[in-house]
Amino acid sequence: MSQPTSQVPGINDTELPKVVTELPGPLSQKWFDRMDSRVTGALGDHEAVPFVEAARHGHLIEDVDGNTFADHMSAWGASPFGPTPARVKAAMDAAWDRHGMQISAWQPNEPVYDLVELLTDIAPGRINRVEYSVSGTLAVEGAVKFMREATGRSMILTFGGQYHGEATYLTAGVSSDLSNVQVQRSQYVAGVVSIPFPNKFRSPFLKGPGPFDETMVLDYLEEYLLVQQVHPHQIAGLLIEPVLGEGGIHAPSQAFWDRLGALCKRWGWLLCVDEVQTCMGRCGEMFAIERWDGIDPDLILLGKSFSAGGQPIAAILGTDEVMANSDLHLGSTYGFVPAAAAAAAEGIRIIREGGVLENVMELERIFFEEMNPLKERVEQVGDVRASGALAALEFVRDKATIAPAPRFQYAVYQAALKRGVLGITQEGKWHYRLQPALTMPPSVFRDSCQRIAEAVEEVAANPPKEGHVLDIVAESTR
Ligand code: PMP
Repeated sequence: MSQPTSQVPGINDTELPKVVTELPGPLSQKWFDRMDSRVTGALGDHEAVPFVEAARHGHLIEDVDGNTFADHMSAWGASPFGPTPARVKAAMDAAWDRHGMQISAWQPNEPVYDLVELLTDIAPGRINRVEYSVSGTLAVEGAVKFMREATGRSMILTFGGQYHGEATYLTAGVSSDLSNVQVQRSQYVAGVVSIPFPNKFRSPFLKGPGPFDETMVLDYLEEYLLVQQVHPHQIAGLLIEPVLGEGGIHAPSQAFWDRLGALCKRWGWLLCVDEVQTCMGRCGEMFAIERWDGIDPDLILLGKSFSAGGQPIAAILGTDEVMANSDLHLGSTYGFVPAAAAAAAEGIRIIREGGVLENVMELERIFFEEMNPLKERVEQVGDVRASGALAALEFVRDKATIAPAPRFQYAVYQAALKRGVLGITQEGKWHYRLQPALTMPPSVFRDSCQRIAEAVEEVAANPPKEGHVLDIVAESTR
């Protein structure tokens, strides 16, 4: 008997990947040879992605040489349902036909109001207002302005290893992208202080592997930073990723959130959660903060999955206290253009109809089931982490010192790619990440996990010589 067909977009596409040439294949190489002198240096580096995409179908990316790769990158999270679902495209088309390009921050229109109504219906806690934006980076910048305006205070507290985009001011100053540090483009920006992100496996204060009580970073905050560097009343608010994304998939404990919430109340700090990477089902709930009890944000930032794979769109959600009497004009020309808003609304409807969040939690379960045994078998597999469809393997030189193994990570990424699995890597980082479509069929995901496990065993049989993180980044940015 054939399986019933699911209505969840993309979930019936169960084709598996196949790599048939060396990488890059001859036709990809031809493209690179023609184009490398025409793009910036970084865009001409093809080690991490050694192929040119010809098309996407199902959960596969097909290159110009006919190789296919299971897509665990998902447009860095912006393509949550695999290729854009037909009903998202139809919603966009309808909005294009009626409105074309329109500046929604000036001219109210129906698709945008429809989206705002949906967002305020689903928003958790006290959140009941929406500001339009176009990218995660701009949403972060806008949120900082809201926090400063609402409190009259200047400082923002962030957590190390977070990523907030590449704008020159705040976001570059706290970006976890190692190339920023390597080319000495990071800056200590005025008005930002940070403490380490809570990490149960690796402590900045204690040696060896956890599990640690990661609320110790709040001891550091209370006993050092707040008495030695900045008075709590200078701090307008916190900017925190509910699950650290680019920084390696770390999900804080309930105890951490409880204590952080109490600190916010005590000192009058606003809590801004950057859900650009974690929102709209990515972590198995509509908003990742719903994985815990009682997180009561003042601002929530949305991007990536929020687009439903449609067009660029981001949002700052906030409370009446922060937004009702604000005089801020963030002036985003392209924020919430009608077609982007229509796509985002359709994405929310897809998730609310059911099936997507359940699939995400199934992917999380499969990741642990397939990868936890590797931790027992392979010396270099330090930690296995997942929050919904955000997953990571952290590689170490050995289990006793847990010294970072960035070259091991990069070799695993390459070995998995040769087996048809496109994950996420960054040279110099020692965690390898997966960010599949929320609707990747469990069979495709399990097959990829098994290919990755083979890749890990292959690299472990002949591990590369490790170097210092910054030396490795230096090699890749030269
Ligand atoms: N915040 C977080 C948590 C992110 O992961 C990202 C992008 N990776 C951004 C902000 C920046 O978003 P964008 O690339 O849309 O500007």
